[in-house]
Amino acid sequence: MHRRRFLQTTGLSALALLALAACDDDDSGTTPAGGRRRVIVVGAGIAGLAAARALADRGQDVVVLEARDRIGGRIWTSTQWPDVPVDLGASWIHGVDGNPIADLARKAGARTVSTSYDNGTDYGTDGHPVDKATAAAIEHWRTQIAKALTDAQDEADDTDEARDASLRAVAERAVNWPALSDRDKALVSSVLNDYEHEYSGSVDDLSSLYFDDDDKIKGKDVLFPAGYGAITDYLAKGLTVHTGEVVTRIDWNDIGVTVTTGAHTFDGDHVVVTLPLGVLQSGAVEFGPGLPADKTTAIGKLGMGVLDKCYLRFPTKFWPDTDWLTYVPGQDKAGQWGQWINYSRAADQPILLGFNAADFGRTSETWSEADLVASAMVTLRTIYGPGIPAPVVHQITRWSTDPFARGSYSFNKLGSTPDMRDHLAAGIDDRVHFAGEATDRKSFGTVHGAYSSGLRAAKEITG
Ligand SMILES: Cc1cc2nc3c(=O)[nH]c(=O)nc-3n(C[C@H](O)[C@H](O)[C@H](O)COP(=O)(O)OP(=O)(O)OC[C@H]3O[C@@H](n4cnc5c(N)ncnc54)[C@H](O)[C@@H]3O)c2cc1C
Repeated sequence: MHRRRFLQTTGLSALALLALAACDDDDSGTTPAGGRRRVIVVGAGIAGLAAARALADRGQDVVVLEARDRIGGRIWTSTQWPDVPVDLGASWIHGVDGNPIADLARKAGARTVSTSYDNGTDYGTDGHPVDKATAAAIEHWRTQIAKALTDAQDEADDTDEARDASLRAVAERAVNWPALSDRDKALVSSVLNDYEHEYSGSVDDLSSLYFDDDDKIKGKDVLFPAGYGAITDYLAKGLTVHTGEVVTRIDWNDIGVTVTTGAHTFDGDHVVVTLPLGVLQSGAVEFGPGLPADKTTAIGKLGMGVLDKCYLRFPTKFWPDTDWLTYVPGQDKAGQWGQWINYSRAADQPILLGFNAADFGRTSETWSEADLVASAMVTLRTIYGPGIPAPVVHQITRWSTDPFARGSYSFNKLGSTPDMRDHLAAGIDDRVHFAGEATDRKSFGTVHGAYSSGLRAAKEITG
């Protein structure tokens, strides 16, 4: 019996199919004639599409299996408002200098708009723009905390995990937290919440030694007024992508690999697994004959964080025309609605985009849409007054409960070490290859990190 390429079957077990393959004259080698390999890519996010694109361009037979009814994964341009596409996942290319995503944007002809953290309006707990003394106090705490973290990292050597502590523990020691006034506690909490927004983990969970063990790319931050989806659409052109295929098992032996979804079985020579860390942690996908111990340790110990978005579209614009609007909530509301982007610059419509990260992000995901919007409006009315209009429409995200993401992006958690990302990335038996943002030691949590990891996995296969 000949096996078709990417044979889809029902009723035969994966291992039975592999046994059949072993009896097949034409198809028994580890690499098919001419070096043309059959590769199954699990996940049509940027990592999976990058791998598939590179493999297809090098003449390999590639099929991408995607659980959702769309491609892009954590790049997700919503078209719910036909006149204004908005990104519910990634927004920015973080640093355009030498960034591969900036090259792709040029090739795809995607327009970008730059934003700057230096172009912001900052509001204090009372809702008024912060005065000079408060701005100086925020800067003082920010510098003191950053210095304490750098000192802790400098003092530790490479194998000093035992000395690790949470980011909060190091920061609170540095500022002598118990002695602070309520006002200063609110300012320090706001600085800590900035770390949570960047890294998506709670400051109680972020490793003080390794949270920032990544390379930042220089240059402007730019976002896509017409949506980040232009990049994933560009990569996916001409690729075979099966959507609605929820992978439940991945098996391999020295003959090949078998990937099982709810309805089908796919066979190939290699599989590239780009499942998000949160999905790997959930155990929703089984691996036969099982993952190596250092990989399961990495899956268990690295952190999957939360960053959620809330777009509010108003009848009129009532905020100033800076890129960022930041707010210092009182200590009783620490971590809530502290960061907003003036989306009207990108959209030319009166739209604000609020973010919530880490613990409050997770908590607010359990609220109804109405309660979430009402909570956002309490903050906006504190800043802009009771007379501001209610939003006409809104769009919100719930990334931590999304079954195909189970979080927004990974972070270096207390108890993990950076080399665990290498363990997560390592291939198994030259059959099973791993990509995705969490596998990229130097640019985890980003689109460009995920993209590079896909290229790396493709190279593992083709050399
Ligand atoms: C709210 C938010 C804001 C962000 N902002 C930025 C930003 O501004 N800039 C930036 O650089 N990065 C940002 N990121 C991070 C960035 O989006 C991710 O790092 C990147 O998109 C991850 O790509 P990936 O291919 O590794 O994973 P994913 O995009 O998650 O791709 C994995 C794919 O696997 C699929 N899948 C899951 N389970 C299964 C299964 N069982 N079977 C089959 N398929 C499955 C998923 O549906 C998904 O399509 C943000 C992320 C979020 C959530």
